[in-house]
Amino acid sequence: MVLEITRKASLLARLAAHGLRLACSSLRRVLSTQWASLTMRRPSVPTHPSEVKNVVVAGASFAGYFAARLLATSLPKDGRYRVVVIEPNSHFNFTWIMPRFCVVGGHEHKAFIPYTPAFFSQAPKGMVRWVQDRVTGVRKNAVVLRSGDEIPFEFLLIATGSTMANGLPSRVGVEDKAGGIERLKSMQARIREATRLVIAGGGAAGVELATDAKSQYPDKSVTLVHSRQAVMSRFGPGLQKSAMEALQKLGVDVVVGEKVQAPTADGKFITLSSGRQLECDCLINCTGQKPASGLVAEIAPHALAPSGRIRVKPTLQIDDDSLPNVFACGDVAETKVSNQNARTSARQAEVAADNIVQMARGRVPSYTYEPAWQDEVISLTLGLGQSITEIWDGRAELLFSRPEKDLAPMCERAWRSLACKPFEDTGVYSDHQM
Ligand SMILES: Cc1cc2nc3c(=O)[nH]c(=O)nc-3n(C[C@H](O)[C@H](O)[C@H](O)COP(=O)(O)OP(=O)(O)OC[C@H]3O[C@@H](n4cnc5c(N)ncnc54)[C@H](O)[C@@H]3O)c2cc1C
Repeated sequence: MVLEITRKASLLARLAAHGLRLACSSLRRVLSTQWASLTMRRPSVPTHPSEVKNVVVAGASFAGYFAARLLATSLPKDGRYRVVVIEPNSHFNFTWIMPRFCVVGGHEHKAFIPYTPAFFSQAPKGMVRWVQDRVTGVRKNAVVLRSGDEIPFEFLLIATGSTMANGLPSRVGVEDKAGGIERLKSMQARIREATRLVIAGGGAAGVELATDAKSQYPDKSVTLVHSRQAVMSRFGPGLQKSAMEALQKLGVDVVVGEKVQAPTADGKFITLSSGRQLECDCLINCTGQKPASGLVAEIAPHALAPSGRIRVKPTLQIDDDSLPNVFACGDVAETKVSNQNARTSARQAEVAADNIVQMARGRVPSYTYEPAWQDEVISLTLGLGQSITEIWDGRAELLFSRPEKDLAPMCERAWRSLACKPFEDTGVYSDHQM
């Protein structure tokens, strides 16, 4: 008991120390940027537009969007550099809330946050160029876009995250907001019309979807099938237990140690790996998220790890000495993080951006990324009225349960942190708004 209390106290102390370190690192960045702009000698002749060097950021989500802002405010302000963001989505897709909006209607628009020049308000005018497109190929010094355009780069940051072949509940699978809303509504209708729901995958998305569906529709049969012996198996034992208890309290049937194989020929049942069959008129797959790492398959195939992620050095340069100017961060990068999330992505974005800025100033990149359990804190909804937060260092675990009244939790905060007024859509990003 005493040992347990000591461990938990030490956990909180180390969490606070981590917060302090992050605050110091932000302060260091602000001071070094200020210092660099004060001491930088302005070129006597302005840089000709054809000589401006591009720092290309592929993907604008928790990794790329935040990295782009750091780059835009920290790169030398003498006109030699410009940040080019390439992102196919019309709006920032707030993935965390997608399972909730697969069940609950009327809030879908809140999952699509406008990309806005206001996010870059601290950057010099003209420093950011926004390109709504998809990178389809990477050459040594240029990226190729789906439109056929080619954009040369001095530095490239790959922040293309993960994809989900089946789309929802983790990704909408379309690039425009209207299409995304349509997909969410059609998933809501599928769930509303079903009587026997089977959800495959007992990770965060599966647990959230199953508890939400059963809270909203207590009379439907909801079964969650998970291949491991406990749901939320990548997290601490306390969170696994709390999630299981919440599922059972709501009346969700949980089947562990099984995988969903295929629907039967008549489509009325699904078969599990043991051969057992479950009656089902709506199967939702919450497994199969994959890193969107295909961009390096040609240029640096050996940098692809068995996980499908891009191998990186501690500096977040990709693990290929012939490509020192190419970086990767976020879900697409192999960084030995156990549970990738928005915080780990944003922390990696800082390291990658800082190193690019150092190189742009003619220095050797010296910042390194080390995984920290403090960044892997998770909050999970357990039905429409409850959520739980876990802090776990691999030994001690702290859990905080709380009632949750908001049907769109965290959305307002997400909009504000992306420099948007909730929930005012300012439209698709345009450079002309800068
Ligand atoms: C259902 C769900 C719930 C989650 N809940 C939480 C949570 O509560 N807390 C938390 O911290 N984390 C949570 N996460 C994890 C978190 O969302 C991810 O870790 C985070 O989004 C990773 O950010 P990223 O920028 O690396 O990649 P992503 O968010 O995957 O973004 C990648 C971006 O790159 C773009 N892109 C892809 N390919 C290309 C290309 N070829 N060219 C240009 N752009 C491209 C995409 O359009 C996208 O905008 C959750 C994830 C899911 C799926």
